[in-house]
Amino acid sequence: MKFALSNGNRQEAQPSLPGECPCCGRPMVVKCGEVRVRHWAHKGRRICDPWWENETEWHRGWKDKFPDDWQEVVHRAETGERHIADVKTGDGWVIEFQHSNIRPDERRSREDFYECLIWVVDGTRRERDAVQFSRAWANGKSLDPFSSKRKVSSPEGALLRDWAGSGAHVLFDFGDGQALWWLFPASDGQRAYVQRLSLAQFVRIHRATSAPGPCEFDSLVQNFSAFIAHYEPPPPTKQPRRPIEAAPCPHRRPYISRGFRF
Ligand SMILES: [Zn+2]
Repeated sequence: MKFALSNGNRQEAQPSLPGECPCCGRPMVVKCGEVRVRHWAHKGRRICDPWWENETEWHRGWKDKFPDDWQEVVHRAETGERHIADVKTGDGWVIEFQHSNIRPDERRSREDFYECLIWVVDGTRRERDAVQFSRAWANGKSLDPFSSKRKVSSPEGALLRDWAGSGAHVLFDFGDGQALWWLFPASDGQRAYVQRLSLAQFVRIHRATSAPGPCEFDSLVQNFSAFIAHYEPPPPTKQPRRPIEAAPCPHRRPYISRGFRF
């Protein structure tokens, strides 16, 4: 982890600094290595959050695009279940950076736990993913030839297959530092809806202090929903899932009537 509590304050790992886990309160030690970025680790045991992924330079680079106090935010459900969100924005979106493979059941558990969830997925982990995704995008269709959004029928490639059933927003990062490829939650094994989004814009709209009313990302979601509505009759409305913490996700409500989960 990047942060631990040290003398009551959130601190980055520094040699010989004492620390405790902000999630479970147990002692932590500083790990410095040539391979891994400097981080905090639980003393003599595995991390308390089974969803936690070993942090790579890629994770750290992403987290550092956001303010320190948005990083590694402990979430508590009414049941007492606790997990550490990679980033929670000022508008209440949780952003999880996923490098390694994730089982569908764990993915669903995390999507249920963090209602307003955005996955940023490392698209460089498998060499073939970028090639297959690029082919799928090239085969995509749009009513407007200049649109950054496309419908991809029968999406090919392991990456799209792995993530097309997700109930959350998924953004693939192929490591060029320029573009993210946004897979909308209405996607499945038959069709995928994909939008090219600038990485800089994605970071900027989440960092922007939200004025009253929908945040900028919500506006993009609405815009994407309108694009999809050209292709799809609205599916039956889904029941809202159990609320996490005190209030349900404010980003979901405007879109439930459209039949999508966001
Ligand atoms: Zn812990």
